[in-house]
Amino acid sequence: MNKVMYEKLGISSAVAEFSEKILEKLKPRFDEIDKIAEYNQAKVTLAMQKKRVCAECFAGSTGYGYNDRGRETLEEVYAECFNTEAALVRPQITCGTHALAIALSANLLPGDELLSPVGRPYDTLEEVIGIRESTCSLKEYGVSYRQVDLLPDGTFDYDNIKKAINEKTKLVTIQRSKGYQSRPSFSVKQIGELIKFVKEIKPEVICMVDNCYGEFVEIIEPSDVGADMIVGSLIKNPGGGLAPIGGYICGTQKCIDRCAYRLSAPGLGQEVGASLDTMRSLYQGFFMAPTVVAGALKGAIFAANLYETLGFKVVPNSTESRHDIIQAVELGSGEKMVAFCKGIQAAAPVDSYVTPEPYAMPGYNCDVVMAAGAFIQGSSIELSADGPIREPYTIFFQGGLTWYNAKLGIMMSLQKLLDGGFVTL
Ligand SMILES: *Cc1c(COP(=O)(O)O)cnc(C)c1O
Repeated sequence: MNKVMYEKLGISSAVAEFSEKILEKLKPRFDEIDKIAEYNQAKVTLAMQKKRVCAECFAGSTGYGYNDRGRETLEEVYAECFNTEAALVRPQITCGTHALAIALSANLLPGDELLSPVGRPYDTLEEVIGIRESTCSLKEYGVSYRQVDLLPDGTFDYDNIKKAINEKTKLVTIQRSKGYQSRPSFSVKQIGELIKFVKEIKPEVICMVDNCYGEFVEIIEPSDVGADMIVGSLIKNPGGGLAPIGGYICGTQKCIDRCAYRLSAPGLGQEVGASLDTMRSLYQGFFMAPTVVAGALKGAIFAANLYETLGFKVVPNSTESRHDIIQAVELGSGEKMVAFCKGIQAAAPVDSYVTPEPYAMPGYNCDVVMAAGAFIQGSSIELSADGPIREPYTIFFQGGLTWYNAKLGIMMSLQKLLDGGFVTL
């Protein structure tokens, strides 16, 4: 981009030149991402065509929401695209945690056991499961939990997984994305191998994948390799930045029926649930999602290469293949984390004038710093960064509705680190 515009944005020529040099090497990676996005765009378009999406689908409904054609068609589109028998896609699902809680509590009964063969689950699930004492947890309802940690190299501990599967094991939960941990994220292929292993030991076990941050990163989804349910949030990848709310569960008819009865009420299930005014953005967001995810991935890879070149540890590293949109950068100090976040915030289209400051947050034993300037509150498919201010002082960065805005955010983060005297170019 031209110098004058960078100057207007507050980007120095040192940062601009350094960034362009990093980008020169990334063309083959970006070409690969574009190919995946094109494939996924075709997959979404075909699903919409096959299910005959039409203007009436956007009308929405009120009250009970009986015979809501838009809602029913959208669920068919998700099921078609993700290759499952059924889908539950609703604005009444408030977030990813809620979708996961529905999927778990609908399919686990008292006396059943839940197994995580991939170590500790995402923070918010600890209370859903009852790993941390919590009102209305699965534990309170008599569902037990077992966990098998990953091996030190981040791979599956098959021996102990085999030992952990017993007569009570009803559901196996597999988290695709590392979330905010330091373990690797799993490829869909790896997840498929794990599911196959589990089903060989106990065929009737339900395999659920927490698909948050993973949708459209590859050309296949966990439901293509044997998952009975995949679960995610519409204010992450599949909402394409346009969905204002919602979550999805796609899977077997049997599992989804139970999820629907749990979400609304026994006997009502999928028949009720007004879509209000959300339908157009849920459809359009899903249509945009492959492109938006591609932009976010380019941003993550650009950040990894830029910060690795500057000597920081980055996870995934500059050359690793990607299985989700999250990029971790170990900055090594709280001041650097704050500077990084200030840059991300300054690049946002919304709330760019506010300054991120670390503060105490429920569920954390230390201050947390966050940057987000989003059209949809809390949306993390939009440009955002956060991290707890503690060792090893890692910032987690994700999203960006367009590649160009993600790029600007990363350049701006570098600018703030440079201005603070934390790096030299
Ligand atoms: C974001 C996320 C969740 C929870 O989603 P919320 O919408 O924040 O409730 C669960 N699992 C993973 C891996 C996530 O990334």
